[in-house]
Amino acid sequence: MANEGLLIKCDSKQILIDATFDKEFEHLDVLPNAELDKIKNAESNYKYIDIILATHLHGDHFNAEITGSHLLRNKKTMFLGPKETVANFEENFNEFHTISSQIKSETPNFFESKTVTLNGIEIEMYRLEHSGESPWKEAENIAYLITLGEKKILHFGDSKIDINIEKLGLINENIDVLILPFWELGDLENKKIILEYINPKKILAGHIPTKNYSKVEDYIESLGYKNVIVLNKQLEIIFSE
Ligand SMILES: [Zn+2]
Repeated sequence: MANEGLLIKCDSKQILIDATFDKEFEHLDVLPNAELDKIKNAESNYKYIDIILATHLHGDHFNAEITGSHLLRNKKTMFLGPKETVANFEENFNEFHTISSQIKSETPNFFESKTVTLNGIEIEMYRLEHSGESPWKEAENIAYLITLGEKKILHFGDSKIDINIEKLGLINENIDVLILPFWELGDLENKKIILEYINPKKILAGHIPTKNYSKVEDYIESLGYKNVIVLNKQLEIIFSE
């Protein structure tokens, strides 16, 4: 969709993840207002969303007004996020009390996980540190492993690639798709961790500043990955085999 946001569809299930946000940072991509209105109104492609996930509260991943408006209009949609994100949601959405039964929050300890099942979809939450310096890295950040049909999709949010990822046992999950910020690919140690402890069939690299859109593919190729799709086309549809 934009930045690191995705609409994931499999069989009859649909999940929006890090997709309900508005313009916050000049250098990052955001959906046009007409598309955000469709999300807010739960119409067009966004009529049957089962779950909205937010990895953390930063404005390039989550917006209380857009997310809350959707939940008001589709009472079947559930929301899951870390506790800090839900506190922000409550503070910034006036009608929060009307949708509170649709909202779940969990913040596991670092490098621990928690299983949540919502609308028949199993989601594993992993607490990982947000990448970067203070104050960014203080955000409660969750990676989500989503099981839909035969597919396992791991959305990393803004997680930092860390040697402790080994402890999560992700290598045993046979991950089909890993979504992560493109900069986390660009380090030999990170590459080793990604390949040894996650080994996804495909990697979607997102969170790319729009000014880098034209050159990011060459950059990723220079890192020597074989299975990366670059998320630099807004609302692009990516099919899995
Ligand atoms: Zn962030």
